[in-house]
Amino acid sequence: MDEKRRISLERADELHKEIEDYLAFKEDFLRQTAEIRDILSKKHKEELMSYFDAGEDEWNDWHWQLRHRISSVSLLSKFIKLSDSRYEMFEEISKKFRWATTPYYLSLMDYEDMNYPINLMALPSAAEASESGEMDPMSEEFTNPAPCITRRYPNRLIINVTSSCAMFCRHCQRRRRIGESDRIESEENIEKAIEYIRQTKEIRDVLITGGDPLMLPDEMLESIISRVRAIEHVEIIRIGTRVMVTMPQRITDELCQMLKKYHPLYINTQFNHPGELTREAVSACCRLSDSGIPLGNQMVFLKGINNDKYIVQLLNEGLLKARVRPYYIFHPKQVIGTKHFEITVEEGLRIMKYLRGHTSGLAIPQYILNAPHGLGKVPLLPKYIEESDEEHVKLLTWEGREVEIVY
Ligand code: SF4
Repeated sequence: MDEKRRISLERADELHKEIEDYLAFKEDFLRQTAEIRDILSKKHKEELMSYFDAGEDEWNDWHWQLRHRISSVSLLSKFIKLSDSRYEMFEEISKKFRWATTPYYLSLMDYEDMNYPINLMALPSAAEASESGEMDPMSEEFTNPAPCITRRYPNRLIINVTSSCAMFCRHCQRRRRIGESDRIESEENIEKAIEYIRQTKEIRDVLITGGDPLMLPDEMLESIISRVRAIEHVEIIRIGTRVMVTMPQRITDELCQMLKKYHPLYINTQFNHPGELTREAVSACCRLSDSGIPLGNQMVFLKGINNDKYIVQLLNEGLLKARVRPYYIFHPKQVIGTKHFEITVEEGLRIMKYLRGHTSGLAIPQYILNAPHGLGKVPLLPKYIEESDEEHVKLLTWEGREVEIVY
């Protein structure tokens, strides 16, 4: 064997050792999914369908999913056995922050382990009683130049078209707007928002969000999208939605046919845990991709759910397989009732540092902290530059090796 081949083989061996633990984790996770999670969720789905006396067609109909949302503790307790204290706590927290989950998302939960990440994202927690944080850390109230509009940047803005969502996520960073009522903005306000965009020539990128804009019926959504698309200076339209995760049945062929008329149109969603990448969710994403819509994921770092380097890697690699590009990872904001999900920036940076080198760049989103008071996004990067001046730069590689470039 020549020397170069020997060195290459040694390096290949070293690289394999770097990824060994992750591969074991992945194998274990996927085996559990195949052997336990899939069976359990199928069983839960059958129980839910039987309770609601529904067939497969109804289960696959998003209107049915919405009509049968589980939002009372007594109904929930028919499926998940709750201790008296937990029952009372759920009742108590419901008075402060409304909760609801689709039958689909409930079917993914672990009925025994209340710390399972899917449960944590959907069911109330005693920790929500904490008053720590703010209701509007982004000062959205002060970046609202017209009804339904949030404007934080020079050439792009947001239209909030509804306060309704398929599920009220416990980590929601917009709790202030979400959950009090299922309110679609009035046509009058929406038209005022669109008129603001018409009059503001520098706006080239419009994000339609809420709540979840895919709660709107197709016709209403199309009426908004088509008016925005008709504005000459608007180059791209984006939609922010979590329905692929919480109610994938919403991604119907009719919806895809409608959306594909308004390209360039992008959709960003929010998968936070690989357990959410079910067959239904992946197939909903693929239907949108097949309609030519580029998909991005905006994960939020959440303690107990994804503050783990292997979970983030598995999620991001799974998203790429579902043709969703991991786009952002958001640092959690300090919103009242979500303190228990917070992690530190240091912890987030450690995970980001691990990702580099251990997975392909496509699976590494940008880590973003939204500055308080609506001051915009701050990208957070692990430290790679040790020293830098006009003559040289000293850098650290993904393995922590020091290299120097002299100009
Ligand atoms: S879907 Fe989004 S806006 Fe709605 S509750 Fe969940 S995180 Fe909040």
